[in-house]
Amino acid sequence: MRIAMISEHASPLSALGGVDAGGQNAHVAALAAALAEQGHEVRVYTRRDDPAPPPVVEVHGFEVVHVPAGPAMTLAKDDLLPYMGDFAEWTAADWRGTWAPDVVHAHFWMSGLAAVTAARACDVPVVLTYHALGSVKRRHQGAADTSPAHRISYERQLGRVVDRVVVQCQDEIRELLLMGVPRTQMTLVPSGVDTALFCPEGPAEPRDPQRPRILTVGRLVPRKGYEDLICALPSVPGAELVIVGGPPDGRLDDDPYARRLRALAGQCRVADRVRLAGAVAAADMPRWYRSAEVLAAAPWYEPFGLTPLEAMACGVPVVGTAVGGLTDTVVDGVTGDLVPPREPRELGLALRRLLGDEVRRISYAAAAADRAAHSYSWRRVATRLAAVYASVAGRHLTSTESREAVV
Ligand code: UDP
Repeated sequence: MRIAMISEHASPLSALGGVDAGGQNAHVAALAAALAEQGHEVRVYTRRDDPAPPPVVEVHGFEVVHVPAGPAMTLAKDDLLPYMGDFAEWTAADWRGTWAPDVVHAHFWMSGLAAVTAARACDVPVVLTYHALGSVKRRHQGAADTSPAHRISYERQLGRVVDRVVVQCQDEIRELLLMGVPRTQMTLVPSGVDTALFCPEGPAEPRDPQRPRILTVGRLVPRKGYEDLICALPSVPGAELVIVGGPPDGRLDDDPYARRLRALAGQCRVADRVRLAGAVAAADMPRWYRSAEVLAAAPWYEPFGLTPLEAMACGVPVVGTAVGGLTDTVVDGVTGDLVPPREPRELGLALRRLLGDEVRRISYAAAAADRAAHSYSWRRVATRLAAVYASVAGRHLTSTESREAVV
């Protein structure tokens, strides 16, 4: 099949760990490569945010197309909505030229808008993965949520007018049902992990052997729960907490949130046991996972959560919060332990218990690596998604009239 993907803000070519570059970038890059590996022709359309790269870049068997829409500079994703019309128009022109896709898979709601708008001009079926939902963000962030005003209503409408919604976990199904998206619109296909890269065997980042290491990984944003982890550390004596993500090491001092985390570590009297490592290249992530006794993932909410899965694939048990995708990927009491979100006390107790019980850690580690390899390989995920694409290619399940309303 010819598969067009739209990932308006999250380029598969971006370095990960920055405020707007995380799981979606990694997901789109790995999925496109896995589909190309299976013989499909894949083009990923992403907004041009830098004048330098060529219009089309070929990477891992697929093409990344830089779409001119808005200024060719980095913009916050919450500021991109006004450019989605231009994005759609340019993309539709590309499809009317020499490359007509069989299906378009949009990633994130704004890509969904661009996809539905472009597809009406070319009669292409649209598959949508939200990656994150405005309703969940609003619930947790309240006034701090900077999403465009009508995000939730657009997301609700998109769920009804696309040909298929690919959800990534059970929790997302529940949220979409609450929004009024029919269950019949949804197919559950989780994200995946590159099990050739993320595996238990291989080099590990050097560390102090006297100090058990708790690793946490992600964009340096409050909702990832780093503050809860720092507050939990006094009840895990002797352990160090390593936080990977954010700006590169040399620029952490300029980051206000990194400074806030350091100040909090001082207040909790654990400054000597908290280390901010800054951004790490994706290819080096397995070394960091392998260096840890446990991966802690303490988000307040999490649409899917690749880092627990990557750690599991590396044979590292997870102590995580029972939210979003973690409740599917982490099997409580088998591959890790789940605790309620925003409860540093519970988090500390779970970490302390696991670090004090080597037999439990070894058994979790083996079960985690097995589960990641058997259920979440990209080959498996790509095969399931290709079946979804085939099921919608050539037929539209939703009315043109309802799509026009969204456009
Ligand atoms: N990541 C990375 N370098 C970093 C921090 C994160 O390569 O310094 C990667 C990490 O390995 C994972 C992704 O960024 O693949 C984060 O995805 P996740 O779903 O955990 O969180 P999101 O960023 O989507 O909220």
